Amino acid sequence: MSNTDFVLAIEDLTVSFDGFKAIDNLNLYLDRGELRVVIGPNGAGKTTLLDLICGKTRASAGSIKFKNEEMTRLPEHIRVRAGIGRKFQTPSIYENLSVFKNLEVSFPRGRGVFGALGFRCDDEVRAKVDEVAGMIGLADRLDMEAGLLSHGQKQWLEIGMLLMQDPELLMLDEPIAGMSAKERELTAELLLRICRNRSVIVIEHDMEFVSRIAHKVTVMHQGKILAEGPMEKVQADPKVIDVYLGH
Ligand code: ADP
Ligand code: MG
Repeated sequence: MSNTDFVLAIEDLTVSFDGFKAIDNLNLYLDRGELRVVIGPNGAGKTTLLDLICGKTRASAGSIKFKNEEMTRLPEHIRVRAGIGRKFQTPSIYENLSVFKNLEVSFPRGRGVFGALGFRCDDEVRAKVDEVAGMIGLADRLDMEAGLLSHGQKQWLEIGMLLMQDPELLMLDEPIAGMSAKERELTAELLLRICRNRSVIVIEHDMEFVSRIAHKVTVMHQGKILAEGPMEKVQADPKVIDVYLGH
């Protein structure tokens, strides 16, 4: 396909593990500023799809274009630099460091006004930390040791660490697992704020949460897309009810 306005264009994507196709000839297009939720039964291939997009797993066939650039064969760190951020299920924060430090160390080196000169401008980093801390609701926790945060706050901190790099595409795998009702609510608000100036892909099971945040929903089953569209349409689709929502 020629150049498009899609931030992400995935075509004929396939990955085989010893002959088993975990992703099978999949096509997916994501708009700029779109918040897409991917749902589907366990083993459908949701996590594998994110692994392929971020470069953790190499595709067997097909194409992944990010802002019209072919990513399919590029290593993970190049994709990160291109603007693809990925949050894994288990948070990987530095428990012994303060919230401030966790955010500070996530600021990309060699970027920004002074990056090329080999040192970082403290004011520039400080401003970015303040902006991100406000975004994730931890502005009054900057001096706290990260290990002392609640489970939900740790998840937000890790999202904040990704936001320090200003990704144009942010991907989150089951971000509200283990969260309280209040934390879920705040996470929904956070994700809606985040997608104001970037695209987001979220894997999630909690249908109330999904209906709260999704612009569009993609339903996966056996490595393929079973249905896609607005929540109401997908929810009413007999195929979806049969393999997923009916249980
Ligand atoms: P989901 O996230 O939708 O629950 P996954 O993407 O984790 O599903 O897994 C999809 C299928 O691919 C499962 O059958 C899983 O066992 C298989 N799979 C995932 N990663 C690998 C791997 N590295 N090697 C072999 N099989 C894998
Ligand atoms: Mg998974």
